[in-house]
Amino acid sequence: MQTKTPTFEFQLHIETQQYLAKSCRWLSVLSFILTFVIFVSIVINNPDKDIVFTSLSLTPITLISLFGLIHNFALSENLQVNNYKRFYAFIFALVLCWVLVCNLFLFQALSAQTTVESLIHLILISFVVALFPSRGLLIVPVLIIGAYLVIARVFFFSIDLFIPVIKMLSFFAVIISGQQVVEKWFRKAVFKDVENQRLVSELNQLALTDSLTKLSNRRHFDSMLNKEIQHSERTGLPLSIILMDIDYFKKLNDYLGHQRGDECLVELAKLLTKQIKRPRDVCARYGGEEFIVLLPETDLSGAIDVANNIKIQLSQMAFKHPDSLASEFVTLSQGVVQWHSGMTLERLVKHADDKLYEVKDSSRNNIAH
Ligand code: GH3
Ligand code: MG
Ligand code: MG
Repeated sequence: MQTKTPTFEFQLHIETQQYLAKSCRWLSVLSFILTFVIFVSIVINNPDKDIVFTSLSLTPITLISLFGLIHNFALSENLQVNNYKRFYAFIFALVLCWVLVCNLFLFQALSAQTTVESLIHLILISFVVALFPSRGLLIVPVLIIGAYLVIARVFFFSIDLFIPVIKMLSFFAVIISGQQVVEKWFRKAVFKDVENQRLVSELNQLALTDSLTKLSNRRHFDSMLNKEIQHSERTGLPLSIILMDIDYFKKLNDYLGHQRGDECLVELAKLLTKQIKRPRDVCARYGGEEFIVLLPETDLSGAIDVANNIKIQLSQMAFKHPDSLASEFVTLSQGVVQWHSGMTLERLVKHADDKLYEVKDSSRNNIAH
């Protein structure tokens, strides 16, 4: 069982709203189909009936369809929960106003309603009522309209009370208990959905990050680099990478132990994350003690600046390396290259690797470009 904290409740509320919103997509399609079917059946069965009034009596259903369609549009705009409630309230008020106008000024539309139409109205409007987020807000207009309909029918048309009363009672039943039932059902669905989403994002996370350093892994880096290469190919903007490798890391492991080696990798990952500031920059663990940095919209001199900063920060971090031939602290060899049009990912990384090994072959603790 999940514990009920306010945060959890709030999250659940938002998830529920989103879920309801998704389900409303089908409501619009359903409403349109039903509207069409009812319209055709009424026209076929009552050839003598005025087509305008038939259409008018179908207006609430058409409005619900409209509601669903606008809702779809609103969804694609990532509506906030509060706007979302206002939106519901607005459309529902529109439906109710229209029913009221029809009944006030177009009495014949009201009297033209058949039992089947009323039943369909009931089912469809109940849908909207059940999905409406604020129960309190609903009861007031439904009470007023319901009372009005009952009185109008009885006093103006002397129509049987049965349908309007049943209709109104049904609305109340839906508002008071139906909403709870629907909400429970949605809650279950939301739980499952949230759980699935969590699992999927966890799996994605596992597939894309390195478990020790929490940086991106090589697979993620390669896919990001491919995207950036395509972007630069299209825009002509520069793109650079820095490939780096810890100097004498094997000696560090041998001297201080694997555990300390791991700590060194984690510390270096933190340092790199701090240095890589732009949103599209990517820093990844490319191999055992090899790291790589992707710098979109950065030319060679910009990338060299980044590499120099990393070198300075690393020397300030002063992670002890008692067996290094380059320094008493952990150092890096870095290869910096800029991408040029037509270069594939493999060629670009190979180029950086060649530069890196130029450093390894000479002094180490240095930058080649
Ligand atoms: P060089 O200066 O030429 O780069 O020497 P090096 O010792 O750093 O290079 P080499 O590639 O010979 O050794 C890399 C070492 O990194 C070997 C391996 O044991 C160690 N290593 C790889 N992955 C990990 C890891 O996850 N944790 C630890 N602690 N060590 C690792
Ligand atoms: Mg290496
Ligand atoms: Mg190394």
